[in-house]
Amino acid sequence: MNKGKSNIYSNGVDEGTMHLLVKASGMKRGTIHFRYLGVNISPKRLSVDDCTCLLEKITDRIKGVGAWRLSYAGRVVLIKSVYSTLHNYWARIFILPKTVLQQIARMCRRFLWYGTDNRESPALVSWENICKPKRKGGLGIKHLIWWNVAAIVKYAWWVFTKGPRTKIGLIIYLVRGQVGRGGSPDIAWHPWTSTRLIIPRHGFIVWLTAHKRLLTQDRLLRMGITQTNVCFLCGCNAETVEHLFFQCPFSSRCLELAATWLKIAPPDKGVMEWWVKQRARSLLLKQVIAVVLASLIYHVWMSRNKCRIEGIVPHPQQVVKRCKEETLLRIKCSGLE
Ligand SMILES: [Zn+2]
Repeated sequence: MNKGKSNIYSNGVDEGTMHLLVKASGMKRGTIHFRYLGVNISPKRLSVDDCTCLLEKITDRIKGVGAWRLSYAGRVVLIKSVYSTLHNYWARIFILPKTVLQQIARMCRRFLWYGTDNRESPALVSWENICKPKRKGGLGIKHLIWWNVAAIVKYAWWVFTKGPRTKIGLIIYLVRGQVGRGGSPDIAWHPWTSTRLIIPRHGFIVWLTAHKRLLTQDRLLRMGITQTNVCFLCGCNAETVEHLFFQCPFSSRCLELAATWLKIAPPDKGVMEWWVKQRARSLLLKQVIAVVLASLIYHVWMSRNKCRIEGIVPHPQQVVKRCKEETLLRIKCSGLE
């Protein structure tokens, strides 16, 4: 420890004792309040004004150079990075004002759906659902308020027990009173979005599909934006999520071709039931199947959008060829070949 660069601080210590401590330590006496690594150190609870610089930093980060160009998946990564910095330097040390945490969550929510645009419109999926773990159908973004409380409780636990640091996930469960209740069940499709091999932009579209929040024709008709709900790819059925990705002759043919390539039986009933059957397979094959499924869903959605704009239905073989190329490249880059 460099005594020349260190100060000694006290609170509730009488002057005589403090004088002895300063003399014995050889350090200068510092005064509270001060800043350390950009964080305001204070014996009192932080006010909203104390957090102004934090809000400015987060705003600069999410509106920084190139942020407007990010895909949905890229924005999720940036939001997680911002949250990580917040936890490491602020939320682990102080209980931040609820207003500030709500403001940060609002900024991140707006950024996720509308980028650097300042629009305030309804989101496709609620922030509450986004903040759930991936296994429970969320994107694994932390719930700021609970995370902040849990981080502080974790330190208090450690100080009073002097035992090993408890996992923060357990603390969150304790704080929220969820121990024993079991929580909500895992979501069957979560490997399609959270498997490491899946291309993030594919995973995000799958996640929206699973939540039934893609703007398919049936939703657009209900919203009064379009006059018809007919599927663009087959032209003879209502375009719902179930139809577009799992029942449409176009996507069914894509699934068959992909299954032939993977040397597995194609889905005979529902894709979800078929996926459950794949659990008995090796971990690598399950991951590859998940990557192909996510890629198919992404490219069926892109084909549908292209068809909506240009009126041209691509051939299923083109879609599967693209899926194959992307999957093989992904496997090669991950070193699993
Ligand atoms: Zn169709």
